[in-house]
Amino acid sequence: MPDPTAARAAGPNRDPGCLFCRIAAGELPATKVHDDEVVIGIRDIAPRAPTHVLFMPRTHIRSVAELTEADGPLLGRLFAAAAEFARSEGIATHGYRLVLNVGTWGGQTVDHLHVHLLGGRSMAWPPG
Ligand code: AMP
Ligand code: ZN
Repeated sequence: MPDPTAARAAGPNRDPGCLFCRIAAGELPATKVHDDEVVIGIRDIAPRAPTHVLFMPRTHIRSVAELTEADGPLLGRLFAAAAEFARSEGIATHGYRLVLNVGTWGGQTVDHLHVHLLGGRSMAWPPG
């Protein structure tokens, strides 16, 4: 059975006009905190917390709205990378927040799936 994670990672899903595809390809600079064949993690350019990192698949998926069940392994990699980084950053003990903005009302501004990892301070609820 084909590995869907590998299929997504190696597939043709790259948008040459996409900011995060270009960062993943090394065409634009970013401060990388995680880099493997499926997932990268970069420091957010406009941090909203002492630690603010974005984890994203290398392959171009526009948002959560595009995901299918076959993306389960890819999402496992994405969240495991975020959790591992949180431990290494020393913010895991107190806890942190993971955010996925979807679409206009969800506050999504970059149409390439990414998880915000926010930590290093206490978070309010509900979000604005
Ligand atoms: P969202 O609004 O959920 O789509 O999140 C997009 C995030 O990408 C925002 O928090 C931006 O600050 C961040 N961002 C935009 N451009 C860059 C960049 N060149 N490097 C790192 N983060 C960026
Ligand atoms: Zn992209």
